[in-house]
Amino acid sequence: MVTMSSTRTTIIAAGLLLLTHVAILGTFGNQPLGAVLSDFVQLLLGLLCVLTCVQAFRRSGSVARYFWRWLVVSFLTWMAAQCLGTFIDITSNHSIDFVDDLLFFGAQVPLGMLIFLDPDHESNHFDRLHWLDFLQVCVFLVSVYLYFSHGPGRLTTMSLLGPFGWTRSLAFNLTLIAAFILRGALADSGVVRAFFGRMAAFLVGSAVADSYADFAPNNLQSGTWFDLVWTALLVIPVLIAATWHQEEFPASPPRPAHSFVINQFFPLLYPFFSMLLLVQVAHTHKMLASAILVPSFAALCIRVLVIQHRLAQARETMQFEAAHDALTGLPNRGAIFDVLEKEAQRFKRGGQPFGVIMADIDFFKRINDNYGHPTGDLVLQQVACQLKDTVRSYDSVGRYGGEEFLIITPNCDRDATLASAERLRRSIAELEVPTAFGAIQVRLSLGVVSASNPGDCGCSVLLRRADDALYRAKAHGRNRVEQASEESPPAETFVTPADETLPYPS
Ligand code: GH3
Ligand code: MG
Ligand code: MG
Repeated sequence: MVTMSSTRTTIIAAGLLLLTHVAILGTFGNQPLGAVLSDFVQLLLGLLCVLTCVQAFRRSGSVARYFWRWLVVSFLTWMAAQCLGTFIDITSNHSIDFVDDLLFFGAQVPLGMLIFLDPDHESNHFDRLHWLDFLQVCVFLVSVYLYFSHGPGRLTTMSLLGPFGWTRSLAFNLTLIAAFILRGALADSGVVRAFFGRMAAFLVGSAVADSYADFAPNNLQSGTWFDLVWTALLVIPVLIAATWHQEEFPASPPRPAHSFVINQFFPLLYPFFSMLLLVQVAHTHKMLASAILVPSFAALCIRVLVIQHRLAQARETMQFEAAHDALTGLPNRGAIFDVLEKEAQRFKRGGQPFGVIMADIDFFKRINDNYGHPTGDLVLQQVACQLKDTVRSYDSVGRYGGEEFLIITPNCDRDATLASAERLRRSIAELEVPTAFGAIQVRLSLGVVSASNPGDCGCSVLLRRADDALYRAKAHGRNRVEQASEESPPAETFVTPADETLPYPS
């Protein structure tokens, strides 16, 4: 929970550092000591940025944590660059300027990653696809670098507006600002829009400052009054992080399909801009441009394939869940009806007989009443499992409802279906379900009908006749198999053996 006092303390600390910087510049002006002290003040502000972002990270949940994590990584890299810059200022060792340059440039990669995190979409893990996105941000940064070092950018000291030049960091920041504004505009919630808006404002400030500082004709030296602009800019993320409340990322309602499509637009931004820049580099450096474009294109292809694979998996899962019962894993009522329908069709076409068995656990309510519903669920699962294991591989077992099951036996005439039903009854009677209350035994009553005559193939008729037979099995003492009344008497009559009394209390 962010407290008012810690927010106030952070803001006061940032303000004091800003004033200290003003005092240093006022005292030392452009002297070397002033430059070094300015660097130190900025380092301290960077540290404050890291600490406030870490606190915001701790206060956050879900996807917001990743925002703060990336910002922490960004500011840590920036601090490393700033440390090196201070070292260069102290030692005047400018041979390592390029490393410093690279570090400052690298600090932008984590910022670039922010556009991929969709704050309206609950996500508690770092998606492996983000590695591909990370690669695209790096490729884009390299493309910007090549455009300004080997492409048309190297020839221009073009002024965009007065003392503001068309520079590397401006090219990167403009892309980022555009993406942030787009992200904010497309966000479902106002607070998410505000977050991206604030971050975009910070980036606009950085872009303008960079565009002035990196514009060669301005010939800017470190330790000048312009450093104060950087310090003031660093206060912005401190303020954003210090005033951050997790409630600002509200739980959003289920999102329409088009928002998924919109989300897929952001990963295309960097490859698109990389291509625009590299096409121009390719005029003079064909191989170099291709060497950068190929991995970018490959990463994009892999992304498409991974998403396709995930969609296919999600579709499979949904199809399975739509056709299966969540408790027992058996085909649900709709799915087992489909099997029945198909068998009826086959019977109509080819005259292959099939059987329908309706099974119902005896006195199941007592199990629930005596041992509780979780034990009842366990019994249902075990019975379902046992039925599945007992039927032939080409028979189908489905959960018809509550504690009732429907079994379809293809290529079975009346006697074969009756034999199957009896096998199932016996198998369940022998089953002992281990529970916290000890082993529970269950019994099954079964009603059997077989479609052997051309007039038998109506599914609803078959189901009604199987249900009637089941009713009679219940009426005749349970734990037994009965066949549909219209059929001739079975070759064998199955009755409950005397010793198979009901195991649970009534
Ligand atoms: P009979 O021998 O006449 O079939 O008696 P019965 O107690 O088995 O039948 P009854 O229709 O009276 O009760 C069925 C019970 O099955 C009632 C219902 O609460 C329970 N039931 C239905 N679905 C589930 C389930 O998914 N889990 C659990 N635990 N119980 C269920
Ligand atoms: Mg029952
Ligand atoms: Mg029942």
